[in-house]
Amino acid sequence: MQVFTHSEFDGHETVAFCHDKASGLRAIIAIHDTRLGPALGGCRMLPYTSEAEALTDVLRLSRGMSYKNALAGLPLGGGKSVIIGDPRQDKTPALLEAFGAFVEGLNGRYITAEDSNTSPADMEIIARRTAHVRNMGFGPDDNPSPVTALGTFYGIEVGLEVLGLPMDGAKVVVEGLGKVGMDLAARLHAAGARLVVTDVNAQAVAEAVARFGAEAVAPGTAHRVQADVYAPCALGAGLNARTIPELGARMVAGAANNQLETPQDGDRLQARGVLYCPDYVVNAGGVLGIPLPGERLTMAERMARATVIQRTTRDVLDLAVERDIPTHTAADRLAQEILSGGAMRLAAE
Ligand code: NAD
Repeated sequence: MQVFTHSEFDGHETVAFCHDKASGLRAIIAIHDTRLGPALGGCRMLPYTSEAEALTDVLRLSRGMSYKNALAGLPLGGGKSVIIGDPRQDKTPALLEAFGAFVEGLNGRYITAEDSNTSPADMEIIARRTAHVRNMGFGPDDNPSPVTALGTFYGIEVGLEVLGLPMDGAKVVVEGLGKVGMDLAARLHAAGARLVVTDVNAQAVAEAVARFGAEAVAPGTAHRVQADVYAPCALGAGLNARTIPELGARMVAGAANNQLETPQDGDRLQARGVLYCPDYVVNAGGVLGIPLPGERLTMAERMARATVIQRTTRDVLDLAVERDIPTHTAADRLAQEILSGGAMRLAAE
């Protein structure tokens, strides 16, 4: 298994393979870039079928965090960690504590947080061994989802503006009515949008129909609905060679992570004339709402931070037009420019 020549290796500063015999911990911590500050990124636990799969995931996700944090204008770098194991059987306090000790060993260059299959309660266990943890669920203000929903709403607003469409009366398809999607639907409804919704959870769908007068469609069909906006708020990789030719919306902007199955899917969207507001630009509310080291923030202060997404979305969409490149490429370029300190256009304004 190669690291330095791996296809997802992108000049990562540190890739640490962590093993603790007593607890059975096997984890990889990747620090992609700390030029802007300590590398913040969640810790996920999955029963990866191979170490190679875990390495691919952590290299890709840590780079994504560098880009997301940079574009959000945060003084933070990008990192990520993966614990290899089945969360239902293997996640023990001893294993989480051992992981915490490895995080501590990086002396604050990596800050961990909850992610897939890790919870605020797990973060509290990890924090027994390290100070470098966020999202510990100390109270209701620690919930990132309302901030993510507000940021996604701002992204949709900017995208509609670029298309010359008003929010009032816009037809928006929300796929996934979970912590982010339901809150986003409420905001869109309050702003006058007409909603089409879907979820595999029938109860959530019934709630959206009752509260917002939304039209419900079957899971797996939302991307085909003729609409102004398609807002994926469930799973990643929903934009791919199969779904893009079927897309019924003029624009895609949603909270789901990693919406493009491959970078070529961003090119496909552009070729189809669909405006794509890149996921990590519009869903940065979660990370924007996390207090920086030494800070305490109320929910109102966290929500206020999400307003930066109006400017970053606008900057990315403008740059795409200016350079005649797809919007996902524009987002990456802007993030790379910020990381290299070349064009601090966001921070300087
Ligand atoms: P969640 O688990 O609360 O909600 C996801 C919803 O999607 C659930 O209601 C689930 O039933 C539904 N769903 C699952 N499969 C579906 C399918 N095939 N079709 C339709 N609906 C389906 O998660 P969340 O916190 O609301 O996050 C939603 C997305 O946004 C995820 O991709 C997450 O990674 C991303 N995200 C969330 C945050 C945050 O602050 N919570 C921040 C950034 C990104």
